[in-house]
Amino acid sequence: MANKLSYRMVQIGGAPAGLLGLEEAYAELFEAQCPPATPETLERLIRTIKQHNFIPRPAIEDYKAALGREYQQYYEQRSQGRKVVPKNYGTWQGIPREQIPWFPTVSSELCNGCGKCIEVCPKEVFQLKDSKVVEVVEPFDCIVGCCFCKSACDPQAILMPDKSMLDQYRHGQRHAS
Ligand code: SF4
Ligand code: SF4
Repeated sequence: MANKLSYRMVQIGGAPAGLLGLEEAYAELFEAQCPPATPETLERLIRTIKQHNFIPRPAIEDYKAALGREYQQYYEQRSQGRKVVPKNYGTWQGIPREQIPWFPTVSSELCNGCGKCIEVCPKEVFQLKDSKVVEVVEPFDCIVGCCFCKSACDPQAILMPDKSMLDQYRHGQRHAS
């Protein structure tokens, strides 16, 4: 049954997507000894994820990039004999945090690497990549409702969701797909 599968949001090509069965798909690939970052593994990963999720055709390469990165980390941890326990991000209004698509998206074209967002963020959401562009590395550590980084970013490289989006998540009333 699909509702027994894990469910969480992932940032795909700069936009949030809710996906069922990610943890199960990574485990299946690892147990089949599929090495990360090969075209065959990425194809299989997408096929597996598609069993429970709709993936728009034009977005397939973005899905491969985002999920392939996650699988690489998963593979490295399991290969070192470490158990992969999904990080506990807590809850917001009774809903697991990783099911709420509230996190910043950074435009790599507009970001100048000034680092102000890292300075103002009370969490470890961002990381500076190659001293040039900031990346969102821990989206679910972002505080729901916060917009500090967006206000601090002079070139307006940071987008945050509209706060009205949170209404559907208040008081545990999630109806989002
Ligand atoms: S504040 Fe804006 S421009 Fe500066 S590093 Fe962060 S995202 Fe990039
Ligand atoms: S919105 Fe707030 S918590 Fe979230 S990344 Fe920006 S500064 Fe950090």
